Amino acid sequence: MKPTLQPAPNSSPKATAGAVRPAFPVRLPVPVGGPVAIKVIAACAGSVRTSAQIGLKSKPAKGSQPVQGTSAGIGLDSGAVRARMVHKLQLQGVADAQVLAAMGLVERHRFVDSALVNQAYEDTSLPIGLGQTISKPNVVARMLELLLEGRQGAPDKLGRVLEIGTGCGYQAAVLSHLAREVYSIERLRGLHDKARENLRFLRLPNLHLLYGDGMLGYARGAPYAAIIAAAGGEAIPPAWIEQLAVGGRLVAPLQAAGGAQALVVVDKTPQGIRQTLLEAVHFVPLKSGTSY
Ligand code: SAH
Repeated sequence: MKPTLQPAPNSSPKATAGAVRPAFPVRLPVPVGGPVAIKVIAACAGSVRTSAQIGLKSKPAKGSQPVQGTSAGIGLDSGAVRARMVHKLQLQGVADAQVLAAMGLVERHRFVDSALVNQAYEDTSLPIGLGQTISKPNVVARMLELLLEGRQGAPDKLGRVLEIGTGCGYQAAVLSHLAREVYSIERLRGLHDKARENLRFLRLPNLHLLYGDGMLGYARGAPYAAIIAAAGGEAIPPAWIEQLAVGGRLVAPLQAAGGAQALVVVDKTPQGIRQTLLEAVHFVPLKSGTSY
């Protein structure tokens, strides 16, 4: 199935990363069909690890250090709290210096409701409205680390990256420090607008928020050095594989038989697609179409 996306004015798929600037926001059409399972030339299901095995077990929010603050980030000295979060991530096995630095830069408390600010730096997922959640910091870090591990030729940053599931915009903000260009798609209008609002003050010129069905990817920005999904379906949508550059890597939750989800890494090599299943995860479902 070939995605048929509306071209955004003033952008060209062949343009250099820095020159691509789709309209803001971009509307993408609703897909006609569902995802199709991809052909796998090599699977490493044997490498399945549980979160606990790799030290990603979440810590209960109770009893941990609360953020000191009065309201939604106002007067909040979050630098020290973020440094503690980064240190915890290191203890949990996150080793990539760029990922750790990016996680230390983005103020997570600005992306959650004021009532949840005290939990913003806990190792926990949090509700962001419309039944969706912001992923745990260690899951965000783990996925970003996997993306960076897949870099070809060890450039300092990733090239163009596609994120499916903007949510509140937190992970997109972290990604913007790790990639030259980031396209992030959200299917829920309310969250797309919320992310725009959350991200406005950060002024990240390399981050482009798109409203549409991420199952179709975003062909105008393709090919992507990396694709990351924050929602899990039963198969990897074919558009993602099509839009991934040869040498590129995709990281996404995937629903396995029985309904359990696992992280999957898909590498697009000159020889074909290589899929590696990793630890169990729990993400919101990947849904087709758009909604309010
Ligand atoms: N990375 C986000 C996490 C958001 S949760 C953050 O930092 O907040 C996952 C998001 O994926 C939800 O907002 C959900 O609406 C969105 N989603 C699910 N299916 C989608 C699709 N087909 N296209 C775009 N977004 C989708």
